[in-house]
Amino acid sequence: MAHEFPTQARTVIVGGGIIGCSVAYHLTKLGWSDVVLLEQGQLSGGTTWHAAGLVGQLRSHSNMTSLIRYSTQLYSELEAETGLATGWKNCGSLSVARTTDRMTVLKRTAASARAQGVEIDVISPREAAELWPVMATDDLVGAVWLPGDGKANPTDLTQSLAKGARNGGVKIFERVQVTGITVKNGVACGVETDRGDIAAEIVVNCAGQWARKVGLMCGVSVPLHSAEHMYIVTGRIEGVHPDLPVMRDPDGFIYFKEEVGGLVMGGFEPHAKPWGMNGIPENFEFALLPDDWDQFEILMENALVRVPQLARAEVKKFYNGPESFTPDNNFLLGEAPELKNFYVGAGFNSMGIASAGGAGKALAEWIVNGAPTMDLWPVDIRRFAAFNNNPRWLHDRVKETLGLHYAMPWPNRELDTARPFRRSPLYDRLAAKGACFGSKMGWERANWFAAPGEKAGNDYAFGRQNWHEAVRREMKATREAVAIFDQTSFAKLLVQGRDACAVLNRICAGDIDVPVGTSIYTGVLNARGGYESDLTVMRLGAEKFLIVTGSAQAVHDADWIVKNIPPDAHAVLTDVTSAYAVLALMGPRSRDLLGKLSSADLSNAGFPFATIREIDIGYATVYANRMTYVGELGWELIVPAEFAVGVYEALHEGGREFGLADAGYYALDALRIEKGFRAWGRELTPDINPWQAGLGFAVAMDKPGGFIGRDALAAAKPSSSAPAKRIVLLTLDDTEPMLWGGELVLRDGKPVGEVRSAAYGHTLGQSVALSLIENETGVDAVFLSGGHFEIDLAGVRHAATAHLRSPYDPKSERVKADVVEIRAAA
Ligand SMILES: Cc1cc2nc3c(=O)[nH]c(=O)nc-3n(C[C@H](O)[C@H](O)[C@H](O)COP(=O)(O)OP(=O)(O)OC[C@H]3O[C@@H](n4cnc5c(N)ncnc54)[C@H](O)[C@@H]3O)c2cc1C
Repeated sequence: MAHEFPTQARTVIVGGGIIGCSVAYHLTKLGWSDVVLLEQGQLSGGTTWHAAGLVGQLRSHSNMTSLIRYSTQLYSELEAETGLATGWKNCGSLSVARTTDRMTVLKRTAASARAQGVEIDVISPREAAELWPVMATDDLVGAVWLPGDGKANPTDLTQSLAKGARNGGVKIFERVQVTGITVKNGVACGVETDRGDIAAEIVVNCAGQWARKVGLMCGVSVPLHSAEHMYIVTGRIEGVHPDLPVMRDPDGFIYFKEEVGGLVMGGFEPHAKPWGMNGIPENFEFALLPDDWDQFEILMENALVRVPQLARAEVKKFYNGPESFTPDNNFLLGEAPELKNFYVGAGFNSMGIASAGGAGKALAEWIVNGAPTMDLWPVDIRRFAAFNNNPRWLHDRVKETLGLHYAMPWPNRELDTARPFRRSPLYDRLAAKGACFGSKMGWERANWFAAPGEKAGNDYAFGRQNWHEAVRREMKATREAVAIFDQTSFAKLLVQGRDACAVLNRICAGDIDVPVGTSIYTGVLNARGGYESDLTVMRLGAEKFLIVTGSAQAVHDADWIVKNIPPDAHAVLTDVTSAYAVLALMGPRSRDLLGKLSSADLSNAGFPFATIREIDIGYATVYANRMTYVGELGWELIVPAEFAVGVYEALHEGGREFGLADAGYYALDALRIEKGFRAWGRELTPDINPWQAGLGFAVAMDKPGGFIGRDALAAAKPSSSAPAKRIVLLTLDDTEPMLWGGELVLRDGKPVGEVRSAAYGHTLGQSVALSLIENETGVDAVFLSGGHFEIDLAGVRHAATAHLRSPYDPKSERVKADVVEIRAAA
């Protein structure tokens, strides 16, 4: 039925690829039928039509896996609902390993897949050959088999979703181009098109590789860049049949699937070819780029090793299609922080077919509820800032991100391209001292310091890496003397205004209506009682608060706070991250060192824990915040950026006699895990509440006026003292192995949880792991001591001991008096 072109709708979706159609479909399932979808060409004619159609369920984050598991379920059932086939075939998939390191990856994957309820078998090369007889296996170490994986026909799937959406009331218009976004008072309220304007409450940008341009129409950053992605389709090959599983050979960067008795063979080469530097042509519809056999050579060479018959096969078609990639190879989902009611679902990094079902559902729920219904942080658009939208930077970065699909996922792996990007004022000084940098939120951050003669770069491995000894030195200096950490990358947000205190007290779960000069560690919770963030609020004045939060959370936290400032309240947030460096001075000698350089009273009485004062250091005046993330006496010095070098130099000059050492983020992480301190994004997520995190002490349940998430938290409070899901510290009994996070935890042989973050705790002399443990009847001391805990490390189980409190305690009584900790409640 042809519809008249509308002038208004509740929701307008821009883009009729698989993502736009899936969002439309899922909106109708949630009862929203007043939806218009606009496509400048024909449905699926952008990127979707030429996808290979592989659907693999496993992702490194369990919620991402569950999105794709939902996709597989939907694709298998959709035809029954809409009458249109999706081409879904549950053929299973194989991943093979050429090296022992890759086999370690596959075994680690298998353990976490089982924890997520995904069926998976670790198999031998001979068993792999039985499932995939066309391949050579003599060079293989092993493989994994996922019977639940499959493949679909992208165009059919899109049409089927579109039909389902139409059945639910969605009006779809092809050959309509969106030319502008209407914005009023900072809120998206419609679109301009070449057929007229449509007023709308919600606008959804699902414009694929055009999404960056659509974002720029209304000042929204959608950081993605196109790169060429290639595959070939062969003529018939003996032994290839319609039920042949999908096969991935990541060490060769390649994948295979059956098509009409031949093979589709494509891949993700380590050095990709960016495309579309001058913009994506509007009429790029059902179009391909020229064959590029030079770029394809590395894939072809590897494919010939795996399937020697390819040498004699006819190449029927070379597909070279551009697809959008993001700076970290994960897609972009959610409401744009720059513009209310403007949502984005784009940047699918060659995973759009697999992801569409789950991502479309998640985005539809986000739109209808005004907030995500689960932890979607890995794909949340707010993990990027406006500076990530720089086109040159994106161009240089996506050369690397395409290849990440099959690159070795080494522990602590850093991306190498488009760096350095953001630098602290101390960057050069730290580099001269052997700093080995990692990158977070674009910041170059010292991970560890190489001693003279040591290589200042990571040698990746699953066992101990080359920085093991350096981190031991840095941890020892922090625990026994004093160390300086450059934490300039911390996000800093200033909230001021007549209502600043009242507004923040509603946003924070802790009580922040405290005397001026007090610092509060608090959670920021969502309506479900889960952690949106955990941060430190420092009261600088009656209505002036400085918030310090994690480097990665700057945009997210600012967005959360601003969205929760009532329209009539007088409170303004300013991101002052770039104005200040942060130098954390930590260790039992920190007071002696600071006392040498400052006239301030640094005694426990004069400068108690959890207070902030303006103090002098050398010629500089800085904020000193007495807090610790490592469990030692210490101060976080919040230094105006232009004074950072001077303060750093003064500290080093004065620090020699106290054994001052530079220390990096690897040591910082190990020190905090050893102490059992939780980190947002690892232990603290939107799906975890303070009872489960063991941080009930940092929640002011009874403060006047309550706070966001209070009701959910009150309802979730376990009747006994033991929640069914709980963060627990585990130590590995064997002092040798390394843990990296993501490992499966077992109790008496049965899976009970997973490691969220892990490190080698040099003070304890063993690996330490903060883990999420589940037990229906409660995770309490009896449960922890009454069973035999093990951690699965690539298929080998290692005995572990569970603790509700960190086994590390500062030894000396003097130190104990100084260290008032943020204690995890037992
Ligand atoms: C060679 C290749 C192989 C692939 N293989 C796989 C695979 O095996 N498995 C997998 O999961 N993924 C695969 N992908 C990735 C997958 O194809 C994409 O992730 C997915 O199609 C993206 O869908 P989309 O809806 O975001 O984008 P698109 O399909 O590009 O849809 C966006 C639509 O928005 C429209 N649009 C843009 N601007 C406007 C405007 N101003 N007004 C109106 N309409 C507009 C465009 O015309 C376009 O149709 C592959 C990709 C390539 C290139």
